[in-house]
Amino acid sequence: MAASSSEQTDDLLAAAEPRADRPDSTDRPAPLHCPSCGSSHVAQVLGDNGGVSYVCTACGHSWS
Ligand SMILES: [Zn+2]
Repeated sequence: MAASSSEQTDDLLAAAEPRADRPDSTDRPAPLHCPSCGSSHVAQVLGDNGGVSYVCTACGHSWS
């Protein structure tokens, strides 16, 4: 006797679900924008106590 195997459509659909885990977009740094003028011309500079600060070369605004 051959078993009936004509009801496996659900299994095929479950295998075709798109995967949400894409490891190729996790380590990209966010683009810097000046919080004052919104320009992307931002320079990264070292602060006084070893920290990192940012200076907008368009308007001169600095932040950290
Ligand atoms: Zn700016």
